[in-house]
Amino acid sequence: MAPRRKFETNAVRTQVPRTPLREHSVPLYMTSSFVFDDAEQARALFADEVPGNIYTRFSNPNNTEFVEKMCLLEGTEDGIATASGMSAVFTSFAALLKSGDHLLVSRSVFGSTHQILTMILPKWGITHTYADIDKPEQWEALIRPNTRMIFVETPSNPALDLIDLAWLGALAKKHSVLLNVDNCFCTPYLQQPASFGADLVVHSGTKFIDGQGRTIGGIILGRKELIKDVRFFARHSGPSLSPFNAWILSKSLETLAVRMERHCASALDLARQLETRADVESVKYPFLPSHPQHALALRQMKLGGGIVTFTVKGGIDRGRRFLNALQMISHTANLGDSRTIATHPASTTHSKLTDAERAAVGILPGLIRVSVGLEHVDDILSDIDQALQKSR
Ligand SMILES: *Cc1c(COP(=O)(O)O)cnc(C)c1O
Repeated sequence: MAPRRKFETNAVRTQVPRTPLREHSVPLYMTSSFVFDDAEQARALFADEVPGNIYTRFSNPNNTEFVEKMCLLEGTEDGIATASGMSAVFTSFAALLKSGDHLLVSRSVFGSTHQILTMILPKWGITHTYADIDKPEQWEALIRPNTRMIFVETPSNPALDLIDLAWLGALAKKHSVLLNVDNCFCTPYLQQPASFGADLVVHSGTKFIDGQGRTIGGIILGRKELIKDVRFFARHSGPSLSPFNAWILSKSLETLAVRMERHCASALDLARQLETRADVESVKYPFLPSHPQHALALRQMKLGGGIVTFTVKGGIDRGRRFLNALQMISHTANLGDSRTIATHPASTTHSKLTDAERAAVGILPGLIRVSVGLEHVDDILSDIDQALQKSR
């Protein structure tokens, strides 16, 4: 038996078998179908009696490599790669839920997840209840007889509140409910939900997994018997990830550990720096001792993550002026990029909510979210510093 390898080694050395050309780096398999040896092999492949590729909507070597690598990194048995993070979220719901089922969901999930829950799933009689991530004592009472799945993001976006995954895993088990965790903010380098009892883990590969803002992709991971049902649904409904994007994402995983180390180190530096500023009302970062769930963050996450949020004094107008004053940092709708990105949720992603609704998910008028990139930390700090001064 091969020795059990470490995270970084699995991320680099998990590779589909070489072709007779003996390439060192994995080639791109841009083909929609695969040739059968003979009629008998074709029959056996379709009957699922032998492993192998038939058609890229079902499987492709680049996708297989990405999935196998992510399974090793997340500690899950099986998975399906999808065309986007949203197709991973949607497919995990559509494949495993049926009419009459109910979901319990942490409030302030990703915007499109909220749209799926409120506008799409009700068309098929699937309902949900939101629970406050900072009030775990309320969760058990919200589980109904027809609750089939709990879905959470931790840390939450953009408030960076955490939920205790070990506690939630035990709660889900007690009520025979599936626990599905969107692990996009952490990546498996920082947090492995399956190790706390999650049945399913979904990702947007678009964020830290790609890490360079190039491509869209996603993945659903979990136990073999659950993924079997997801595979059937995906094989026939077709949310497959393109081999090109799978190749990019699998290559990107080779550098995930070193990138996350730097994202997190610079984010902690930035959070500490912001805490000393008089014109910053508050700073939220899981690995700052001032975070209300700092002890949980240390238990559950390897490092504090690449996202820092802070609130500037001066409300919504100051927030806007701050963004306009940035010189290097990008103002764009992504995160987990090598380039540092700042956003102002109150005037963009959450502008349609009322002040009270925003406050309920922890978005104050002056809240700024920074996805800390891989530039030199001094340059990140000085851009934020000059924008704070200029926006006074
Ligand atoms: C971006 C994001 C998604 C959606 O991923 P796409 O790849 O854009 O479809 C889902 N969940 C979280 C937490 C995200 O940040």
